[in-house]
Amino acid sequence: ECTMKTVKDYIRTIPDFPHEGIMFRDVTTLFADPRGLRLAIDQLLHPYAGVQVDKIVGLEARGFILGGAIAHQLGKGFVPIRKQGKLPGKTLSQAYTLEYGEAVMEIHEDAIEAGEKVLVVDDLLATGGTAVAGLKLLERLGADVIGCAFVIDLPDLGGRRVLEGLDMPVHCLCSYE
Ligand code: IMP
Repeated sequence: ECTMKTVKDYIRTIPDFPHEGIMFRDVTTLFADPRGLRLAIDQLLHPYAGVQVDKIVGLEARGFILGGAIAHQLGKGFVPIRKQGKLPGKTLSQAYTLEYGEAVMEIHEDAIEAGEKVLVVDDLLATGGTAVAGLKLLERLGADVIGCAFVIDLPDLGGRRVLEGLDMPVHCLCSYE
């Protein structure tokens, strides 16, 4: 009998969170399992074997957990992109549209030097709004973004098409229709 679990087997779905009608894909159960966490990190890294990466950028908040583990594995540094008002140094800000209203993401202006090769990481790609805001910040710093990696893709929400339309390579471990 084959008992090999996939990344998706460790992800839990919580109906009606944060509002009625939303199926929330919960990666805390993936992160809490030692085999699940290692499987996800190994698979996120798979396409970048032998590729030069200088820094890992994580999107708040679950991108910090994945990005920290990936940066450690590669022996590279980690840079956070955070929601407005959380970073203590001088920042660049980028507004983006949410389902209801607007939000702002920030990065330290000295976190990345022009020409550095960067990999962007988050748990889930939905409309792509969060990732595109992050990419705009990185573009303003002159970073060379080599790709964006996510555990989960929600293809119906179109984020992958948006990123690929910007010529950004996208790597996802699983999807939910
Ligand atoms: P987007 O900006 O529409 O692509 O939404 C992606 C962002 O929303 C990511 O930072 C995700 O962490 C978060 N997000 C949206 N839906 C879910 C979900 O079902 N589970 C976990 N995170 C989600």
